[in-house]
Amino acid sequence: MAGPSHFDAIVIGSGFGGAVTAYRLAEAGKSVCILERGKAWAPGSFPRTPAESRAALWDPGGGLHGLIDVWSFRRLFAIVASAVGGGSLIYSNVLLRKDERTFVHEDLRRDGNERWPVSRADLEPHYDEVERHMGATRYPFDVAPYSLTRKTRAMFDAAEAIGAPIELPKLAITFGNPGMSPRPGEPIHEAFPNPYGSPRSACRLCGECNLGCNSGSKNTLDFTYLAEATRLGAELRARCEVRDLAPRAGSGYVVRYVDRSGQVDGEKVDTSSLVHLSITADKVIVAAGALGSTFLLLKNRETLPALSSRLGERCSGNGDLLTFLTGAKERKRGELVARSLEPTRGPVITASIRFDEERLFYLQDAGFPDFVAWLVESAHAGSAISRAARLLYRLGSGWLGIEQSPDVAGAFADLIGACEASTSSLPLLGMGREFPESRLFLDARGYLEHESPPSARSRSRAYYERVRDGARQVADVLGGQLLDTPLWMLGRGVTVHPVGGCAMGRNADEGVVDSFGEVFGHPGLYVADGSVMPGAVGPNPSLTIAALADRFAARMLRA
Ligand SMILES: Cc1cc2nc3c(=O)[nH]c(=O)nc-3n(C[C@H](O)[C@H](O)[C@H](O)COP(=O)(O)OP(=O)(O)OC[C@H]3O[C@@H](n4cnc5c(N)ncnc54)[C@H](O)[C@@H]3O)c2cc1C
Ligand code: SF4
Repeated sequence: MAGPSHFDAIVIGSGFGGAVTAYRLAEAGKSVCILERGKAWAPGSFPRTPAESRAALWDPGGGLHGLIDVWSFRRLFAIVASAVGGGSLIYSNVLLRKDERTFVHEDLRRDGNERWPVSRADLEPHYDEVERHMGATRYPFDVAPYSLTRKTRAMFDAAEAIGAPIELPKLAITFGNPGMSPRPGEPIHEAFPNPYGSPRSACRLCGECNLGCNSGSKNTLDFTYLAEATRLGAELRARCEVRDLAPRAGSGYVVRYVDRSGQVDGEKVDTSSLVHLSITADKVIVAAGALGSTFLLLKNRETLPALSSRLGERCSGNGDLLTFLTGAKERKRGELVARSLEPTRGPVITASIRFDEERLFYLQDAGFPDFVAWLVESAHAGSAISRAARLLYRLGSGWLGIEQSPDVAGAFADLIGACEASTSSLPLLGMGREFPESRLFLDARGYLEHESPPSARSRSRAYYERVRDGARQVADVLGGQLLDTPLWMLGRGVTVHPVGGCAMGRNADEGVVDSFGEVFGHPGLYVADGSVMPGAVGPNPSLTIAALADRFAARMLRA
């Protein structure tokens, strides 16, 4: 790719940490190059049909350049993003601040687990700034026709019965234009043309947020920070994957990457044959996500010899625990009937119940798209057989001339049934202060590996039992049952929030970067993403990742 070969700063990765840093540096007049391995996705381009769905996955060697990357380790299954805008394209839009009392200062030499070298007060102005850029807003439940969705109402009922506080978290979604009544699907008025030149419209409540929003209602990083950074002159090189990183003679760093922009989707490629390109910068900001940044630094340990021996440590899945509430019921006119939670209506997450315990945790509704509801119904095919038999009898008797009305729409409606299996189900997403006791490292073949204590020896065992109890309480209040994921039953956690690996600390004995993200022993090299967390964030981590990046960038500009 032609273009300048030296920059004030190179940012590796365009997720929350990378996009915020790139914007702040570009705003200050610095020359910035953002290298992102994934593609840009305009509204309307996100795969939806069964035939397209393979294209949503990331396996470049196999010809797939999709936005979802999946890692399967022995005890952990992790889902992360690969796209311009990183995790913002597939996340559930929740922006929650880390609780003040969880910025703990435990003594790591005396069996402590976490030491946060920043406080909530340090982050407060940065939280405000990020929320403003991301257009964070609460779900407009009090405005018709949005109104409180049934799943949100169910979460409020459960929280009230359990006696736990609940909130409608801020979401980075556009529900309507400023000063006007929010209206699903109305065209969004943008101050500047967006990078795709595509129309965007207000949230249609379709529950597809984790697949990419085809109506452009999510205020993802490509519409916010990255669009602003490029308007200010930052250069965004998509489909460019960084492989190597080394100090440059004199000062600064050399970054080597492969450019896949010429590759055709669907065509397999021998990745070892790709041409490597080099560019240099005074400062390099590694923001490839908790797994990506840790992997990159582990692979480049030889050329970065001063890296802390703590690299790869203090990892966690942010205490994620996914369970399924099924068969919710309610009493109507004295009878116990299925309770419709309408899990497919609304943004994926709308409510967050807080369990204010020693290891604080949260439970959130996790809605799903319509096609998942059809899958749930087809898994309950047994009850459809008798309905199909009734329909056949009804059609057959008409054809045989047995006196019947020829209008059979009602018989087809009977075949579809009430679809109670899907409407009375709701995934519950738990997350919170798991202990950061797992580690990332390279195996003998150079692959990224993850190790954590088996659940019997894990300090987080009681934490996970408590989250499961909390989810069971919610299921009990709503008259349903609680199911685990099959992976959990096999002793494997599932996380969408991996954090840690390049943890902040006061020195290289405690962490990999300082409290401003600069790597110990390598001046001018920074890490700014979920990997810098010295422990679980607690709530969904993106806002804290972005706020820390905003703080790091402010310091870079003063240095
Ligand atoms: C289904 C789902 C729902 C979620 N919901 C929420 C939510 O509601 N709220 C919340 O706070 N969090 C949520 N998350 C988590 C959130 O997406 C992540 O915590 C967040 O994106 C992490 O930000 P980051 O900057 O650390 O990395 P990322 O956002 O993952 O960005 C890293 C970027 O670096 C790129 N990259 C990696 N390696 C390289 C390389 N070698 N060269 C170039 N580029 C590279 C990747 O392609 C990626 O774009 C969710 C995640 C998922 C999967
Ligand atoms: S609910 Fe649908 S329209 Fe609204 S933000 Fe999510 S994907 Fe976009």
